[in-house]
Amino acid sequence: MTKHYKGSCLCGQISFDVTGFSNEAAACHCTMCRKFHGAAFGTLVEVEGLRWLSGEALLQEYVGDNGSVRQFCSSCGSSLAFLARGASRDQLELAISSFDDEIPVKIDIHIYTDYKANWFDPPEDLPQYPEGRGS
Ligand SMILES: [Zn+2]
Ligand SMILES: [Zn+2]
Repeated sequence: MTKHYKGSCLCGQISFDVTGFSNEAAACHCTMCRKFHGAAFGTLVEVEGLRWLSGEALLQEYVGDNGSVRQFCSSCGSSLAFLARGASRDQLELAISSFDDEIPVKIDIHIYTDYKANWFDPPEDLPQYPEGRGS
């Protein structure tokens, strides 16, 4: 039987599940992720088998100047999903904090640290890249 991992927004009207995750999960310190998450960094991960279980009509999209798409709940404002410019819908990345179930994902690197907040220092035991992964 396929394992499903369930997640939801803060108000609970949007819920979803997935069947798997990419092995890579970066903490992104870029300005857009910081603003979108309202936090020191964003944590988004590619998923497999995404199904919206409820509230899909409440998803609101924001398209940034660089063409990337970010989706959030129009009722409670929870940051939920990210799509790079020109990426197909099956490459949607989800904000991993929105999962209610424990998930087999660990942050393995910090990226875009050139843009990090001055009030947070990434842990030194993880690789850090000034721009994207491998930069
Ligand atoms: Zn909500
Ligand atoms: Zn970012």
